Amino acid sequence: MIIMKSDATQEQIKAVVREIESHGLRADISKGDFRTIIGLIGDERKVSFDHLAMLPGVKEARMIETPYKLISREYARMSGESEHRVIKVGDIEIGGDDIVFIAGPCAIESKQQLFRIAEGVKKAGAHALRGGIFKPRSSVHSFQGLGGAGEEEAVEALQWFREAGDKFEMPLVTEVRGESQVDLIAKYVDIIQIGARNMYDQDLLVKIARTGKPVLYKRHFGAGIEEFLSFAEYMVAEDNKDIILCERGVLPLGKGKSYTRYTLDLAAVPVIQKETYLPVIVDPSHAAGRRDLIYSLSCAGIAAGACGLIIEVHDNPAEALVDGPQQITPDEFSEIVTACQSIYETTGKRRNGG
Ligand code: PEP
Ligand code: MN
Repeated sequence: MIIMKSDATQEQIKAVVREIESHGLRADISKGDFRTIIGLIGDERKVSFDHLAMLPGVKEARMIETPYKLISREYARMSGESEHRVIKVGDIEIGGDDIVFIAGPCAIESKQQLFRIAEGVKKAGAHALRGGIFKPRSSVHSFQGLGGAGEEEAVEALQWFREAGDKFEMPLVTEVRGESQVDLIAKYVDIIQIGARNMYDQDLLVKIARTGKPVLYKRHFGAGIEEFLSFAEYMVAEDNKDIILCERGVLPLGKGKSYTRYTLDLAAVPVIQKETYLPVIVDPSHAAGRRDLIYSLSCAGIAAGACGLIIEVHDNPAEALVDGPQQITPDEFSEIVTACQSIYETTGKRRNGG
């Protein structure tokens, strides 16, 4: 990170950028109210920080020790930018003054099913609508989402999704499972989800970040927090800072029955918020894997400081084609919204790692 003097000229800033680029690195220029900060993107071994520190207009050249830098709170603080990023999508704000609820089916199964659920979650207080079209599945023999049936089916499902989003005034979230789906999905939805299984796919991350759309980025179930944040940096390095981080549970410990599908890592919420300026949400559905725990984990997530929740809701969970055991009804979802709003009112001021 290069901290420029407050009276550094444009020419001096450009000279520093040229020096960085001459070594094959890229520069992220962050212009705060008082000074400009230049972040280095690329192989840092190729530059001499001592040399950079001596260039005209440079106040300090400093190494940030963590493997993630551009998303760190330190970087935001140094450049005078907000330490809490607010991501605006349509009329909603993620990381703003209110918590947000993203709800909808695990998978879109039919137009009727989607519209029934969209209406139900909207009435219950959802702000955004989720719905899977390309599902990551453990077995090739199970329902892969309507996108699995072919391009035509995928486009049709995306059109229903867009229609439902417009009708019920909710921005849309769906998962991109592979690079070939990015352009198609970016045409229809407002927020692109990167599923837990793809957390490590650098090329996919870069391609999605370059669409400029907000990204809902899920932590892999085996990833440490530092690793999760390091990979998020790939997207911010593409100049897309609209990254929503999602804690969705890590692999359960020990032998014997584990009782939950994954273990919700609640401490990750305030820890991540202390480390970065990006908003953090919780997915209690995939963490629990069972509907009777969704209420408790939702309340806990908000109490831990999450900016919102993403919850799977189905009008007939018993018949759901994917993730039936963890989906709840719109009525159950409504109870969660009410409980979480009241928890937020009492704990809200302590969020963001405060
Ligand atoms: C999902 O949100 O539908 C999903 C598959 O989640 P995850 O990637 O967290 O397993
Ligand atoms: Mn699911």
